[in-house]
Amino acid sequence: MPHNGCPHKCTFCNQKNIVGQAYQPNADDVKNAVETAISSLKENTKEAEIAFFGGSFTAIDRDYMLELLNAAKPYMGQFKGIRLSTRPDCIDDEIVSLLKSYNVTSIELGAQSMDDDVLRLNERGHNSADVRKACGIIKNYGISLGLQMMTGLYGSDFYKDIYTADEFIKLRPDTVRIYPTVIMKDTQLADLYNSQRFIPYTLEQSVDLCSKLILKFKNENIRIIRLGLHYSESLENNSLGNNYHPAFKELCENKIFFDKITKLIKNYSDKEVDFFEAYVNPHSVSKLAGQNKSNINILNSMGYKIKIKTDQSIDEYEIYIKQR
Ligand code: SF4
Repeated sequence: MPHNGCPHKCTFCNQKNIVGQAYQPNADDVKNAVETAISSLKENTKEAEIAFFGGSFTAIDRDYMLELLNAAKPYMGQFKGIRLSTRPDCIDDEIVSLLKSYNVTSIELGAQSMDDDVLRLNERGHNSADVRKACGIIKNYGISLGLQMMTGLYGSDFYKDIYTADEFIKLRPDTVRIYPTVIMKDTQLADLYNSQRFIPYTLEQSVDLCSKLILKFKNENIRIIRLGLHYSESLENNSLGNNYHPAFKELCENKIFFDKITKLIKNYSDKEVDFFEAYVNPHSVSKLAGQNKSNINILNSMGYKIKIKTDQSIDEYEIYIKQR
């Protein structure tokens, strides 16, 4: 979805570059995209949703919004429903009731932070009360709720980001997306960064924070459907600050296992054991090993030899060790 016409000026958004260049999809584009999905998904469309993403769907011109919804309508028997993203202050009873009548099954809100100072400093144009109110309305209509947060925004810190996650948990979303702030050229954030008024998290700090957020949401059975921005050449070429990593989630998961195994090993420190078998879920073997076996290599350099074994019965982020 295009951002055209957005009246806001969020510090991290390079809307200046987007406006006027973005192509506005029309009803035919929706139809073509859905037909393409049908031919590749074959009969597996029943569990899929048609998604309108990228902009604030409920803030676009009403006739245009209805044109897109009407284009998706004939496919509602074949697909589970419609998923869309929008701003918290663009949600009210009237619009959600309308969306429900078009079989919208999931709404994601770009909340970004639950700290009102952070929202104000980043010129989001909404506050945390708007987020809470919108969540209540969406849940009242039985629509699946998604919340998006940005870590490391201007004015934020580790504690404010953890607070945002804790407030999200109280709102019981079905899904969350976590986007570490990336400084794009031609944004207010870039100006703040260039004048040293904004010091972003280092990649290491960001990984440390987000590894904790993964466990926080996991413990509450809230699914993280995205962590870190999708790679694109334009992102790589137009970002500043060296804190973007294309495999960010993987780094966070490696960190979770590194922290857990070093904690477990410490229990043996007085017994002078240095050979361990580490048991993880089969899906987590590479997460424990780390990128290019980085975790194993660090543990080796600390004097510990680790043999990774699998145990189907344990959870994706669980681990136990046995001395060999
Ligand atoms: S991020 Fe902010 S400024 Fe950019 S399009 Fe969305 S609401 Fe508008």
